[in-house]
Amino acid sequence: MFDVSKIRQDFPILSREVNGKPLVYFDNAATSQTPVQVIQTIVDYYSRYNANIHRGVHTLSQEATDAYEKARGIIQKQFNAQHPHEVILTSGTTHGINIVAAGYATLLKAGDELLVSAMEHHSNIVPWQMLCEKTGALLKVIPMNTQGVLQMDVFETLLSSKTKLIFVNHVSNALGTINPIRQIIEKAHAVGAHVLIDGAQSTPHLKTDVQALDVDFFVTSAHKLCGPTGVGMLYGKSELLNALPPYQGGGEMIAEVTFEKTTYADLPHKFEAGTPNIAGGIAFGAALEYINQIGLENIAAYENELLEYATEQLGTIPGLQIYGQAAEKIAVISFNVDGIHPYDIGSILDKLGIAVRTGHHCAQPIMDFYKIPGTVRASFAFYNTREEIDLLVAGVKRALSMLQ
Ligand SMILES: *Cc1c(COP(=O)(O)O)cnc(C)c1O
Repeated sequence: MFDVSKIRQDFPILSREVNGKPLVYFDNAATSQTPVQVIQTIVDYYSRYNANIHRGVHTLSQEATDAYEKARGIIQKQFNAQHPHEVILTSGTTHGINIVAAGYATLLKAGDELLVSAMEHHSNIVPWQMLCEKTGALLKVIPMNTQGVLQMDVFETLLSSKTKLIFVNHVSNALGTINPIRQIIEKAHAVGAHVLIDGAQSTPHLKTDVQALDVDFFVTSAHKLCGPTGVGMLYGKSELLNALPPYQGGGEMIAEVTFEKTTYADLPHKFEAGTPNIAGGIAFGAALEYINQIGLENIAAYENELLEYATEQLGTIPGLQIYGQAAEKIAVISFNVDGIHPYDIGSILDKLGIAVRTGHHCAQPIMDFYKIPGTVRASFAFYNTREEIDLLVAGVKRALSMLQ
């Protein structure tokens, strides 16, 4: 059913060498690799129907518009949004969060409260800090425990009628923790607060149904799920998106422009100023189709096996500590060994052709929590194998023999 050697043939990059060794790519949480099926949609677009969308009457422009809007439809269906216009195509997760954060500047007043989790990516922290500076709203933090699990009892004590917005990632990129977002959304709605979920790490592994979750805003990036960089989506409930002012002004986002007054276009165009990443949007749709054809359930089951195996094998290395021990987690392992700087381990692994991420993973508050400079992070995808994990374990041992 799940034939990893056949799947690997879809990814040309996996057959290259790095430093004379076959590439072992374990930096999937930073960006995933791209299958030929997706690469081909980009080549096809530029080879056959490259044109600006929503404007021309000519054939190329219509073909491009149709393909772009078809991709929006695929994205809508993937996340079960009620309407296609609730899917805003963005340049990625960061852009989506900034659209919402900038928009709320007009809706908040001093003393309003916003809640953020202790395990967020910087892109789900900094835009909200900027919003607080502008409005006088207060940012409060939902703490986590040493396992890397949110303290839901403390979360409940932070909620009040002052709480206006809560933003949490579905899955932590640095720890792999799957957060209880359904529960967070329910409790938030009970006090009248809205919730934005950062789905950048969950959408490659877990099915998302925005209507079943009743989530208010949901963001993700295509490049984390086999799509190209520079494209992503912001989902928002129609009435909430309608209540936000546009983020950028320009072409495409207007209904009518005069020097006296400009009226804005309807959703989704109100938030899509300028010529978008057309090839990227089309390829985003193709990436979802590719993933669906393998099946997210199959992907999750296979990745869980990899996670178990890697956790067990890395666990045999003396002094190795794994950060993020939640019962519910995705295939990400963040670790350190005996005070050795993660950068040193990462550099030696690179010499062996093994790509891992080292550092704070754009989540510095997590590193401060554990009082460490960073971690080595191996993050797995459905095209990785047990043999590659064996190479990682051998590589870490080799690094330690050189560094200890
Ligand atoms: C990657 C990531 C982001 C940022 O995504 P961009 O594509 O760089 O905008 C935000 N949050 C999480 C959890 C991520 O993993």
